[in-house]
Amino acid sequence: MSHENAIHEPLYKRINWVNSLFLILTPILVFIFLPLHLIYEGLDWRLIALFAFYSVATSLSITGGYHRLFSHRSYEARLPLKLFYLIFGAASLQGSALKWSCDHRRHHKHVDNEEDPYNIGRGFFYAHMGWIFFKDDPKYLKQGGADLKADKWVMLQDKYYFPILLVVAFLIPALFGLAIGQPWGGLLFGCLARVLITHHSTFFINSLCHMWGSQPYGDKTTARDSFILALLTYGEGYHNFHHRFQADYRNGIRWYHWDPTKWLIQVSSIFGLTKNLRKVSDFEILKARLLADEKKLSQFGYYNERFQEVRQKIEESQKKIAQFKARYLEAKADFNVHKDEAIRQMKIEIKIAKIEFEAALEQWQIMCNAQLAFARV
Ligand SMILES: [Zn+2]
Ligand SMILES: [Zn+2]
Repeated sequence: MSHENAIHEPLYKRINWVNSLFLILTPILVFIFLPLHLIYEGLDWRLIALFAFYSVATSLSITGGYHRLFSHRSYEARLPLKLFYLIFGAASLQGSALKWSCDHRRHHKHVDNEEDPYNIGRGFFYAHMGWIFFKDDPKYLKQGGADLKADKWVMLQDKYYFPILLVVAFLIPALFGLAIGQPWGGLLFGCLARVLITHHSTFFINSLCHMWGSQPYGDKTTARDSFILALLTYGEGYHNFHHRFQADYRNGIRWYHWDPTKWLIQVSSIFGLTKNLRKVSDFEILKARLLADEKKLSQFGYYNERFQEVRQKIEESQKKIAQFKARYLEAKADFNVHKDEAIRQMKIEIKIAKIEFEAALEQWQIMCNAQLAFARV
């Protein structure tokens, strides 16, 4: 069936009934049964713990596993972590890792156009969840993901996706509830309410992350950076950076950026569970940022020699830091150098170059913010 035929099929034939019923029924069931449960059974801390564990495990399996590992290959994971991602990824009820990753790769490749599965151009609701109500065009089911199709664990999860989710998402929470005398409570907290929250947290990445926030790395795509959305999405809210540098395992690049997915990957590397964490160089990131600023300034006719001078200062001091660092490492390795004095001198040179760099960068930011704030008035 061609794409055109699929598009011109009657609407009811294109609806994915299983997905649609689930997406519609979950909030209805939660909004009816959660208050009833709280009134008649009260709030049991063991059910809150179940909810918290399942929320964190399934959300990180999507962001750290489905997204940064399987879709982008931004690092490598050992089998125990990979299996954790595949098991709890299935329990997040967002499809198999294979299907999810193929859709996501298509999103990056065709972002904001017709081939983008969650194209924000079709509106908030469509990008958020509307697209899930419809069946995929069959042509996409066979396309791409050769590396994933060669991974037996990914393929096993794809094959046994429904049995895994029935056991992990439904049966285990119900049994846990049974063990504490509240089987329906187990299902409500460990599955329904948890799925409702984690679904919409992921959906925000496709909707609001393409609508709200800043675009420090360029406006070629609709993707935006937002700290608030990062809080709601386990760090995926730095989406403008992510669309610019999708191979980087981080989304929030500064240490203080809220990105629990990045922290999980980093901590796992200490225990040998992850390796080869891919990182774009600071040099490349800054280059992209300056270029984006330049473009914004040029649009308003503010980019002049003064900005060029500061930009030159930034680049020169950045090069100086790299050169001094290389010389410092060489000297440290060379036993003939009179270490103490030479190394002390080099450390001072590096420090001065860093101060020059930071001062130039701050000057750039102040000038840039002042000009653009003026332009917005
Ligand atoms: Zn996106
Ligand atoms: Zn991505």
